[in-house]
Amino acid sequence: MTVLVFGTVAYDDVETPSGVRTRQLGGSASYFAVAASYFHDVAIVSVVGDDFEGSDLQLLSDHGIDTSGIEHAEGKTFHWAGRYAEDLNTAHTIQTDLNVLVGYEPSIGDLHARPEMIFLANGDPGLQLLTLRSLDARPRLVAGDTMNHWIAENRDQLVNTIANLDIAIINESEALMLTGERGIARAARAMLGMGIEYAVIKRGEYGVALFGVDLQFAAPAFPLIDVIDPTGAGDSFAGGFIGHLANVETYDDDELRNAVMAGSTIASLTVQDFGLGNLAYLDAKRIQERFNQFAELTRYRGHSHPDGLRLRNVSTRSPELAAASR
Ligand code: AMP
Repeated sequence: MTVLVFGTVAYDDVETPSGVRTRQLGGSASYFAVAASYFHDVAIVSVVGDDFEGSDLQLLSDHGIDTSGIEHAEGKTFHWAGRYAEDLNTAHTIQTDLNVLVGYEPSIGDLHARPEMIFLANGDPGLQLLTLRSLDARPRLVAGDTMNHWIAENRDQLVNTIANLDIAIINESEALMLTGERGIARAARAMLGMGIEYAVIKRGEYGVALFGVDLQFAAPAFPLIDVIDPTGAGDSFAGGFIGHLANVETYDDDELRNAVMAGSTIASLTVQDFGLGNLAYLDAKRIQERFNQFAELTRYRGHSHPDGLRLRNVSTRSPELAAASR
């Protein structure tokens, strides 16, 4: 059974402190699918234009990704131009050209109507819901992402879409914007109130936090000396996260924690080159090595002394108590 992703396949122009790249293959579905392909079978539902290069389609197929759900339309492929300044956590959008996305409605063929899991990547929330409703049955896991553009333009529809997810995987700034809350714990609580089971909040170089009603887990980002291009970190995180969950029978608390680590591992490898330059050329050994380094970084078994932290008793009284005893 397959993990299905509905999202964008794009050509990106990206500027980071490490350099400039034009027309690099990107898009939320591309990053997600390539990352997830190291874990599980993946299929993409998306659209590209007549300028889409055969070699880019080949790169996706070379990962075993089912690209038969990528429609080829007349016109240009979706284009995004963005810049990262010294703060590599925040992408500044310079230009978004929807191109073939204008008027596009995904059509889910028989081949893709019964996926095991689905990821509704960043995109029009109305189309995200339409895609979910076109499936023959509800998949074992429904996850989705969004961005500031949709919160500003179409919040009501977005809240409706979120109510149909099991897991929302969303950037910190967008979680705060969506809920109007201050702080990720409050934002996650508000998102759980919208009907989801878990909120995964991506925090760039500060890592990831996972919130459920009875579960909280946080992982740092892998401390890299050189982040070359943060584009795709979020989508490749989601690819690793859901790819891992597709390989286990139930997503219990421990597997959700493992999924966060799997996603963080893949995202840390993505940002080490422009675009798919590193992500597309990984192998199981390199991913496992990074995962092991990550596990070492976060290893903590609690304090080994039987008395715990060996704290001293300091007797203090609050001003109110002191005044009452006077
Ligand atoms: P991220 O993983 O969050 O860095 O997402 C990176 C990808 O999002 C880029 O490759 C862009 O092509 C894509 N993208 C940018 N803006 C949008 C948008 N409004 N809708 C869908 N995808 C977008």
